[in-house]
Amino acid sequence: MLINPDKVKAKAKSKENENYAFRTYLKMHADPPKLDEQFRKLHEEFFSGYDCSQCRNCCKMYRGVIPQEDVEKAAGQFSMSRGEFIERFLEYDSGEMSYTTKHCPCDFLEENGACALGDSKPANCRKYPYTDQPDRMGSLLSIIESAAVCPVVYEILERLKEEYHFIKRKRVYPNDPCPCGSGLKYKKCCGRQ
Ligand code: SF4
Ligand code: SF4
Repeated sequence: MLINPDKVKAKAKSKENENYAFRTYLKMHADPPKLDEQFRKLHEEFFSGYDCSQCRNCCKMYRGVIPQEDVEKAAGQFSMSRGEFIERFLEYDSGEMSYTTKHCPCDFLEENGACALGDSKPANCRKYPYTDQPDRMGSLLSIIESAAVCPVVYEILERLKEEYHFIKRKRVYPNDPCPCGSGLKYKKCCGRQ
């Protein structure tokens, strides 16, 4: 059972510091090819049987990105010329050298959760959240960002923390109960100086 798509943004935000610490941990301790394999397996596990039309956070929280080479095909889906399609739906993003939809949520998201581009949906949308792609080690920052959008990415990170026995080190204050279980305050027990 994956986290509710409506809750993933807030939950990931509450874990942001932990996720950045986990990134550092992976950079220091993980083997990149093994990490790719772990991501790929978890991607398959979590997406199998998951109905993305019940979520669509990636279409709601981002604008659609239509690479130049995909515009013609996408226009054909609406029986429009390339020019008409661009004028009606798209803006050019010179930084990305791609077209984006004019609005967020994406203009092609339909009420039932389907994509109006159908089979002409761009490859970048098909590949999102890229958790089965190579070089996950080099993409950990964008993965942490995606954990606030995609329930699958959120769950993959949580599972990886278990698999790597990553435990966030909790700070113990002087007046807290001592973690050794003595029943004394930390400052009077293991924290005594
Ligand atoms: S083009 Fe389709 S799949 Fe891509 S963001 Fe828009 S609605 Fe979603
Ligand atoms: S890819 Fe992730 S964010 Fe997009 S619809 Fe599927 S579960 Fe939701």
